[in-house]
Amino acid sequence: MTTGGRWQCTSCETPLVGDFCHACGQRRIQGRLSVGEFFADVVRRVFRFDQAFAVTFWRMVRHPGRLADDYFVGRRAGILDPLQYFISSIFVQLVIAALTRALAPMVGRLSALAWLGQLGGVVAVKILLIFWMATIWRLLFRAKRANLAESYVFATYVFGTTSLLWAMLPLIDLLVPAPLGANVLVVSAVTLGIEVLYASYAIANFAKIPWFASFARVVVVMVVGYGLLTIVVGPGSMVSLLLPPMPPG
Ligand SMILES: [Zn+2]
Repeated sequence: MTTGGRWQCTSCETPLVGDFCHACGQRRIQGRLSVGEFFADVVRRVFRFDQAFAVTFWRMVRHPGRLADDYFVGRRAGILDPLQYFISSIFVQLVIAALTRALAPMVGRLSALAWLGQLGGVVAVKILLIFWMATIWRLLFRAKRANLAESYVFATYVFGTTSLLWAMLPLIDLLVPAPLGANVLVVSAVTLGIEVLYASYAIANFAKIPWFASFARVVVVMVVGYGLLTIVVGPGSMVSLLLPPMPPG
């Protein structure tokens, strides 16, 4: 909106200097909404399949400790905040699961479906699991490096990255010559292995502790964390959570 040649905020009428209102944060709006803008907004804001998402993933692979530090001190331009990153990683899983369900019968590779048991699920439940594991970590090991909130942030980034690594598994199964997912033990060992090894690597990098110390702590936290959950929800639900069911047919 412009008055006398000057732009002003459409929400609070503060004169605008840049593309965002410094008083209320409203983005500068000009002209009417187009379908293209609307869908660009959905992709950018709801799914966050953009450069910031790719950068966050790549930095969590290369140097997770440095990404966490940048977030803690407020250098957050160009990366996603932890919850947005985690939610986007679940969207990626859902897209890849749908793709795998469509492609696997076409290329005669039903073993790829075996990897889908770990993908998707209820985002809210998964986020509670992150808080659960991070809290157990804090109770067992005194973290000098981070306070409780920072531990939650880092754990959310780690679980988001694990989700993305898991999402690659059905695609790998579709591409390589051997049907990897045909063996349920391979599926369990690989998914659990990725979770334990990536978390150990990320925590060693973040907390600046030796790799084997990080690995041992991750194993202890998972045994305690999943163990207590098994007692609470029962072994049946836990097995279906940890061991993906075999594909039908
Ligand atoms: Zn405003």
